[in-house]
Amino acid sequence: MKTLTRRSFNKTLSRGIGGATLLTAMPWARAMGEQKQEKKKLGVALVGLGSYSTYQLAPSLMECELCYLAGIVTGTPEKEKVWQEKYNIPASNVYNYENFDSISSNDSIDIVYVVLPNSMHADFSIRAAKAGKHVICEKPMAVSIEECDAIINACAKANVKLSVGYRLHSEPYTKEIKRLVNEKVFGNVQYISAEAAYRSGGNPDQWRLNKTLSGGGALMNMGVYAIQSAIYGTGENPLSVTAQEFSTRPDYFKDTDETITAQFEFPGGTFGNIMTSHNTNVNRMYASCDKGWFELNPASSYGPLAGQTSNGVLSFPHERQQKLQMDDFASHIINDTPNVAPGIMGKRDMIIVKAIYESIATGNSKIELKLDSMGL
Ligand code: NAD
Repeated sequence: MKTLTRRSFNKTLSRGIGGATLLTAMPWARAMGEQKQEKKKLGVALVGLGSYSTYQLAPSLMECELCYLAGIVTGTPEKEKVWQEKYNIPASNVYNYENFDSISSNDSIDIVYVVLPNSMHADFSIRAAKAGKHVICEKPMAVSIEECDAIINACAKANVKLSVGYRLHSEPYTKEIKRLVNEKVFGNVQYISAEAAYRSGGNPDQWRLNKTLSGGGALMNMGVYAIQSAIYGTGENPLSVTAQEFSTRPDYFKDTDETITAQFEFPGGTFGNIMTSHNTNVNRMYASCDKGWFELNPASSYGPLAGQTSNGVLSFPHERQQKLQMDDFASHIINDTPNVAPGIMGKRDMIIVKAIYESIATGNSKIELKLDSMGL
């Protein structure tokens, strides 16, 4: 409530969400309160209808309680009709990359979700913000720190909300790990290890293996999950990083990193080791603490995740992570609940990614990270 702007309030009110609560709290809006408000969900437009939109986001939007699939933005005309029919999307809510900016005049779209190759995230996130739409930008947030800044600034200037597609912050096992760490249930974390990797094959021309489009290889793709695990698994931002790169299939990974390991030092004295790869399948995190241990395995798949601690097995009901994520963001817009994956988090991770590449480029040197002032 505190930071709800008049503009976002009016937008929310016009859709009738949370209207009853808001009307009693906002004197300047009370006069409008006589009108009966109809309950509606926020409209989401997916930009880029590739694998993640098709198999994860669109099905999850069918289950969301606070938002729904209202529109699509695609560069592939054949997909328009298929998606329109499957999801009952009116022609007025279908855009391509050229006419996308005219989405500004479409009141049924509240949130633009950018699900394109990494090098296109900044352009479309900034255009979405300029169009007055709230933005979810997929991970990694962008291909440089400068691009992250440009997205953050564009959203601030347009007074729209910004989130990174870090679905795990809405996921129950991950939330439990954060609670265990914050409440020091097992004391201080002494060692954390996190691996996020899968074996890549198939088309060598795919955008993930093209540095111009991806910004980097395994580190940009899966590595951000390992970085995230190391951070929420310790509850701290790292002070420094030292990294190494390994290559066993240089003919396939011509342009991007195959496997990277990196070691973090944390302010509390915790030591961390992460591994990310496009050459092997591992997905877990493990923390050794002075009064026990905890682990997730898998730690960052689409779920259900699984985990245990020195006190026993963790067990939570499974829901689509992306459903929980998008409802969390919609709630942030509607109810001013916390933004669990704000843009600044995506920028922090890009600073760490850059430092890891710098460490490798400079012969595994230790790179100091100055993340204290980021407010995370
Ligand atoms: P994808 O290759 O399946 O889809 C990419 C889409 O972008 C396609 O619709 C393609 O037509 C379009 N596109 C536009 N210009 C393109 C170009 N020049 N080259 C290639 N494709 C182009 O990829 P994806 O798996 O859907 O990933 C999209 C984004 O989502 C990436 O940033 C990725 O990191 C992210 N992602 C996040 C998660 C997660 O768990 N949060 C999971 C998968 C993907």
